[in-house]
Amino acid sequence: MTEAVVEHVDILIVGAGPVGMTLHLALAAGGRKSLLLDRRPRPAGSTLGVQQAQQTDPRALALSHGARQLLEQINSWPTRAATPIETIHVSQKGGFGRTVIDRADYDLPALGYVVRYRDLAAALGAQLAADALLDGVEILDITPADDHVTVSLRHAGQERTIETKVLIHAEGTPDDDPDIKVSDYDQHAVICEVTPTPGHNKRAWERFTPDGPLALLPLGNDYSVVFTLPPAKADAVMAMDDDTFTAALQAQFGQRMRFGKPGPRSRFPLALRMRDTLVKGNEVWIGNTAQTLHPVSGQGFNLGIRDAWQLAEILLNYGVDRNSLASYAASRRLDRQGSALFTDQIVRSFSNDFGPLKLARGLGLLALDVFPPARHFVAKRMIWGARAWP
Ligand SMILES: Cc1cc2nc3c(=O)[nH]c(=O)nc-3n(C[C@H](O)[C@H](O)[C@H](O)COP(=O)(O)OP(=O)(O)OC[C@H]3O[C@@H](n4cnc5c(N)ncnc54)[C@H](O)[C@@H]3O)c2cc1C
Repeated sequence: MTEAVVEHVDILIVGAGPVGMTLHLALAAGGRKSLLLDRRPRPAGSTLGVQQAQQTDPRALALSHGARQLLEQINSWPTRAATPIETIHVSQKGGFGRTVIDRADYDLPALGYVVRYRDLAAALGAQLAADALLDGVEILDITPADDHVTVSLRHAGQERTIETKVLIHAEGTPDDDPDIKVSDYDQHAVICEVTPTPGHNKRAWERFTPDGPLALLPLGNDYSVVFTLPPAKADAVMAMDDDTFTAALQAQFGQRMRFGKPGPRSRFPLALRMRDTLVKGNEVWIGNTAQTLHPVSGQGFNLGIRDAWQLAEILLNYGVDRNSLASYAASRRLDRQGSALFTDQIVRSFSNDFGPLKLARGLGLLALDVFPPARHFVAKRMIWGARAWP
């Protein structure tokens, strides 16, 4: 019997989503090789690294100014596909109080940018070298040892065994498992694109309704709509014909603007999923697989890219071993807990119609409006994440 051939790599990344690809490219920029695996096959002729599901992913992502700066360093900023956000209007439906966050107060070209998930994946995928990624992979087994991890997989009909010094999990939102704390929001996000009249003038809207937050994000000439609703109402919204849907959207915004025929709708169930332990031996979890947040205020990928960046810096500067992974876990505590708390508090305190809370929210929004330091506190969290702490 012939011995199975064992391949050796230093760094194996499972999941070639935006976070996994960012990590791979940040390591490559520092002269370190890593191998990416993804379960999705790449359709013939597509950009390297962009799988079928990514090409059709309907999400639009609001990316912070900080995320742009990191993506520029790995030549993956999708300039032409990115729409700047110059102002953000925050308000609550049926209650007083509103505030406007303006880029001019922060001496920045934009507060953030809106990019389709697929355009971001394509920009990252275009930077991958030909041998960077195995796609269409099925992981068969993962066996940890003291100083390495062995991964068995099937690729192109062949079984292969790869031994890696560190294994990085970037597989996206995890299924339920004992290491994940799940807190269900009992909300689904219904998303689509719609053209406003007059034009959006690079303004985003975050409108809090008793059902959940409703965001309009400028994207090209359109708005990307993120309509958060309890599941039964999301069922109803998904089933509406286009005219009824447009009328429902219109009812949330009054006569400020008119909406044209909406594009196809998709939905995502929403829960906070936090992994208790980021590192186990020579394995580490980053991006959505470490923490999946509610999309309100667009923190998810912005946090995931900071995971990838920090991990790359630590592996490049301190070596590829479990001690480096342990210091990575410690270094990410504040950012991930702070971002999770920030989004969770927003969702829970705004998604209800309780009179006293509505009053408190109105006062809060008013305070943000008339008291610039409070507004700057919120704005800086959106622009920089936890880098803005304390
Ligand atoms: C409606 C909605 C709106 C959002 N809006 C924003 C926003 O405005 N701003 C923002 O920053 N974030 C936003 N997010 C969050 C953002 O989409 C995620 O944080 C981001 O996509 C996470 O990237 P990732 O690479 O960690 O995971 P993913 O994008 O899920 O990629 C994971 C990759 O791993 C692969 N994979 C999975 N399992 C395996 C396996 N077993 N073996 C091999 N490969 C595997 C998948 O094929 C995929 O390619 C939003 C999310 C939703 C649902």
